[in-house]
Amino acid sequence: MMLRVEKLAAAYGASQALSGVTFQVGAGEVVTLLGRNGMGKTTTIRAIMGLLPSQGGRVTGGAIGFDGTPLPPLPAHRIARLGLGLVPEGRQVFPTLSVEENLIATARPGRWNLEAAYALFPRLRERRRNLGRNLSGGEQQMLAIGRALMTNPRLLILDEATEGLAPLIRAEIWAVLGRLKAEGQSILLIDKNLSAVLKLADRHVIIERGRSVWEGPSAALAAAPEIREQYLHV
Ligand code: ATP
Repeated sequence: MMLRVEKLAAAYGASQALSGVTFQVGAGEVVTLLGRNGMGKTTTIRAIMGLLPSQGGRVTGGAIGFDGTPLPPLPAHRIARLGLGLVPEGRQVFPTLSVEENLIATARPGRWNLEAAYALFPRLRERRRNLGRNLSGGEQQMLAIGRALMTNPRLLILDEATEGLAPLIRAEIWAVLGRLKAEGQSILLIDKNLSAVLKLADRHVIIERGRSVWEGPSAALAAAPEIREQYLHV
């Protein structure tokens, strides 16, 4: 397994946000974290990426391993360098850098270079001299994905990458994720669009009140309306 999360616990101040999250992501696998608002999905990703301290939080228990390397308590930049690339909640493109500067800012050598990113998202090539802050929401999302790919991550992590986007742009992003999967890219994602993730992902992990409570492949989740109702309210 590439990523192992074992009985992960995390807190913000005195508030225990996670108290037992366990799952794995294997090489070439696409895994989703599902669960209602506030259940701990984003916190799980922050813990993996070393981003809890910058949010006033900390890991309080359990373990996270990436190819056998324990991630906590490494700082975020060290974790990124191990081969984890994040498309963060809210995109967080650098507003005063151009599209091209955003793409290059955190790039590392590998299959994903500027040419490849522009081939994946032709719109970014057209907009390459525009500032991050002048892009539409959809363009910012493409940029956030392109920027994460240009770190050449072995595991790509996306937090709500299709939220708040127009249907056509959403469809483009799902198509891109499908192409990445077909290439063998390992992906961990949070997304509320159940029908889309059932098509894309191999496995799903449901998080409820800071704990992983169910895990299974798409076929099992599709065939379990009671699980979807109980934990996802759909
Ligand atoms: P959403 O879909 O709304 O993003 P989520 O499942 O990703 O939900 P988290 O964002 O991980 O949930 O939140 C888990 C709990 O931690 C919630 O109770 C939330 O209010 C709390 N929380 C999240 N971020 C912080 C923070 N920076 N400081 C304090 N509490 C936080």
